[in-house]
Amino acid sequence: MMADNKEAIKGGEFLIRETEAKDIFIPEEFSEEQKMMAQATQDFVEHEVKPLVERLEKGEYDLGATLLKKAGDLGLLGISIPEEYGGLGMNFNTSILIADVLGAAGSFSTTYGAHTGIGTLPILYYGTEEQKQKYVTKLATGEYVGCYCLTEPDAGSDANSGKSKAVLSSDKSHYVLNGQKMWISNAGYADLMIVFAKIDDDKRLSAFIVERAWDGITMNDEEVKLGIKGSSTRQVFFNDVKIPAENLLSTRENGFKIAVNILNIGRIKLGAGGIGGMKETINLSTQYAKERKQFKQPIANFGAIKYKLATMATKTFVTETLSYRAGQDIDDKTDALVAGGMEKNEAKLKGIAQFAIECSISKVHGSEVLAYIVDEGVQIYGGMGFSEDAPMARAYRDARITKIYEGTNEINRILIVDMLIKRAMKGQLDLMGPAWAVQKELTSVPDFASIDNTVLFAKEKLVIKNLKKAALMVSGGAVKKLEAKLGDEQEILMNVADMLIEIYAAESTLLRVEKLVGMKGEEACAGQIDMAKINLHHAVNIVNNAGKEALFAFSDGDEMRVMLLGLKRFTKIDPWNLKEARRRVANILIENGGYAF
Ligand SMILES: Cc1cc2nc3c(=O)[nH]c(=O)nc-3n(C[C@H](O)[C@H](O)[C@H](O)COP(=O)(O)OP(=O)(O)OC[C@H]3O[C@@H](n4cnc5c(N)ncnc54)[C@H](O)[C@@H]3O)c2cc1C
Repeated sequence: MMADNKEAIKGGEFLIRETEAKDIFIPEEFSEEQKMMAQATQDFVEHEVKPLVERLEKGEYDLGATLLKKAGDLGLLGISIPEEYGGLGMNFNTSILIADVLGAAGSFSTTYGAHTGIGTLPILYYGTEEQKQKYVTKLATGEYVGCYCLTEPDAGSDANSGKSKAVLSSDKSHYVLNGQKMWISNAGYADLMIVFAKIDDDKRLSAFIVERAWDGITMNDEEVKLGIKGSSTRQVFFNDVKIPAENLLSTRENGFKIAVNILNIGRIKLGAGGIGGMKETINLSTQYAKERKQFKQPIANFGAIKYKLATMATKTFVTETLSYRAGQDIDDKTDALVAGGMEKNEAKLKGIAQFAIECSISKVHGSEVLAYIVDEGVQIYGGMGFSEDAPMARAYRDARITKIYEGTNEINRILIVDMLIKRAMKGQLDLMGPAWAVQKELTSVPDFASIDNTVLFAKEKLVIKNLKKAALMVSGGAVKKLEAKLGDEQEILMNVADMLIEIYAAESTLLRVEKLVGMKGEEACAGQIDMAKINLHHAVNIVNNAGKEALFAFSDGDEMRVMLLGLKRFTKIDPWNLKEARRRVANILIENGGYAF
């Protein structure tokens, strides 16, 4: 259900808008149908995927295709594919929920993500009716396995610089494709490939639907990887491959746009796709900490271990919160556009593009939280964490890829700031007004607004409001000072991105818990209240540190002094016993034997 004014919310606007709890979706609001789908996925992971993990890891890659077929039989490959193409027609947020649960499936979550996301969606969103009927129907059931061939040996982050070339035949009946693609997930058993190449001497990429069975496609052996060893990853070579003209996807030179839009979808799913793995790691770590005894007691009794468990749970709760907030915002925007008369596919793409900033935030946040959690998981297991006989070593290796693919975290951080500034320049987001108001506030007497301490999170919301001012001050100051040169000062972009990520995460978490308290009462949400506040303190630290680093980098003299004072004022937070709060959260985990929020 869409809240009253949801369709009015814009991507990136969180920085200048005071969002209310009722305006965000929280995972506790998933419908019975969505929960049933999540349960079916959980059962699939437990009963079908996990028993095959060892064999997959040892190189029986084709089992990935077998599992995809089984997932197809259960409907898991077509969650948000419309029914007319063999899918279940559920909303985008449900597909994020399924990616979340599959996050506990190790390598197979990459196989699944590559197939259902980048392998299927280009045709679903950009294909002709004929292409969709011919291919999406088969991808939705698992009859065909899909893959996505964008990266080349010399074209990774700079994807548009690829050298693969398609030449249109003189009778315009077909293209002849030559080129080399690298790091292609599912390549070993894919039946269908979305291939990006430049036609003739075009400057921009075009996209093609290529069938594996066609002549001229060869592959290298499987890559020997650090992690996700059970997923197939190969180099693919195209040698004079004849592609029928009707297999051009969308229009000539529209490939880069397709690649970017599809990656936006992949990004939020990747961020959320870590959640299942995070929860699994927390469950295993909690159980191990309860069982492992040192100094005549379970290591779970030690404050240092409680700190880890509580932080792991808090970070997971936060990733979950922001991913589903953004996911539902995308759905609501899409629904609003459809209600306004827009064609469904176009509305979906517009909805996703509108929240591209939040998709990048989700990717960076989720992948870095996952990295933190598996690292602490290894640490809680001690020496056993380093052993291939225990589950942490594989989780640790598998997690590492998430910071690299679907746009590295550096590229995503740059995009977060770049998109925000571009939207401000185009007048789509009014950042200038609020940034100017903050500048004026810097030289005025602080306004000590009275706070009603009986209202839940009244103080904390003021902290969020101030953190937004800090980000506006720093980013506005950097734009003013460096203008077009800001793009060359990537360190500052990274600082600003960190501030924005933490603000979105902290605000979302407070609003989720506020809404939850409204549903269940404060007593039932004690752990969640603690986590929201723990995370807020963390956000204040990051915003303060990143803000300082940025100010040191681009300002000096009086200007720097005024802004540093402003930063101090905008990153104030009352002292609160974080140690006790973390212990309370850890004790909930220990009592429940795992993640219980
Ligand atoms: C296991 C695996 C599976 C994959 N699956 C697929 C797939 O199915 N399909 C597909 O097309 N691709 C796939 N990829 C490729 C993946 O998307 C790329 O590896 C990724 O985009 C990075 O490109 P690169 O490896 O060339 O690194 P590079 O682009 O060379 O980057 C190297 C480093 O430089 C940094 N960097 C690069 N440019 C900039 C910049 N402008 N500013 C600041 N820093 C920069 C990067 O952040 C990174 O830290 C996969 C990769 C792996 C490892």
